[in-house]
Amino acid sequence: MENYSPRSQDQILIQMFTIDAHLDLAMNALEWNRDLVLPVGDINERETGLSDKPDRGKATVSLAELRRGNIGLVVATQIARFVDRGNPLPGWHSPQQAWAQTQGQLAWYREMENLGEMAQIHDIESLDDHLQDWEQERLGNKPIGYILSLEGADSLVDISYLERAVEQGLRALGPAHYGPGRYANGTDASGKMNAQGLELLKEMERLHVILDATHLCDDAFWQALDHFHGHVWASHNNTRALVNHNRQFSDDQIKALIARGAVVGGALDAWMMVPGWKRGESMPKQMNCKLEKIIDHFDHICQIAGNALHIGIGSDLDGGYGREQSPYDVETIADLQKLPALLAKRGYTKEEKKNVMHGNWLRFLRKAWRS
Ligand SMILES: [Zn+2]
Repeated sequence: MENYSPRSQDQILIQMFTIDAHLDLAMNALEWNRDLVLPVGDINERETGLSDKPDRGKATVSLAELRRGNIGLVVATQIARFVDRGNPLPGWHSPQQAWAQTQGQLAWYREMENLGEMAQIHDIESLDDHLQDWEQERLGNKPIGYILSLEGADSLVDISYLERAVEQGLRALGPAHYGPGRYANGTDASGKMNAQGLELLKEMERLHVILDATHLCDDAFWQALDHFHGHVWASHNNTRALVNHNRQFSDDQIKALIARGAVVGGALDAWMMVPGWKRGESMPKQMNCKLEKIIDHFDHICQIAGNALHIGIGSDLDGGYGREQSPYDVETIADLQKLPALLAKRGYTKEEKKNVMHGNWLRFLRKAWRS
């Protein structure tokens, strides 16, 4: 695989089916104004001269590129924050506006379904049908399967909105994002969940929604694991032992997640991969941030688990950053196909490689959706 070229048609045929458990596709479509049907090169060309966001012209993700990388199933987000007076983070000034934003994002996913570009996966039957389609037909414009997830619960105007969201296909929910949230506090914040947050966990359990532990602040993380008895995963999270930040999981948190049968998705946001990254200053090459660094985080989790059953991919590529803050050897998301060779180099068996690329997420989903 030394001379692996993602442009080669032959290589596409032997690529391993891949699942990415965290992509903000609709956010890119509607807030970055990216037509994700196009090749990444076209999207970037269209952004020439734009400077409203730091990652203009540096996109790595499009539906065409997912297909090229044999990434046939993703967990795709709805995301909209509510900000109270005095909260400096970007966000909406009312929960109703945030809800409307997530409904716009859902409308975009539905349009992609109408085009045959995407297909919503929401139960075992749709999952199995989708996997069969991808196995049988190696080429052509197969739809990208997506499992709908909500990153941050602020947009749920009240608890009753969760049932509406589940009817729309929502299958996973991370109650928090960055800063203070209406249901739980997230990254860079602290404090336990309020009564509304605990009620949300109860309703999630009733509706069989997967709890995404990513972004929960430490206090809320431990409280949520105590109060929530359903299925838990962490869609995009690296390890605190390797890059010390509250956004990452401590070894105790990883242990607790493993005990709950969780799978943790490795994130390819450069500052979460290598220590000492300064956002807006550091460059991937200079920091030696390459794709292989994620395997250090994988390894760390595997050492704690004693197996390779609790890791997967949750790349978060184009999650508010682009190539300027991604591994330097990731030109587009199709380069996830370099991972099996990198895993093999580090001693992972063929079976373990398959588990990392898709098997662990599938096992988790089948278990969660059977119940
Ligand atoms: Zn995130």
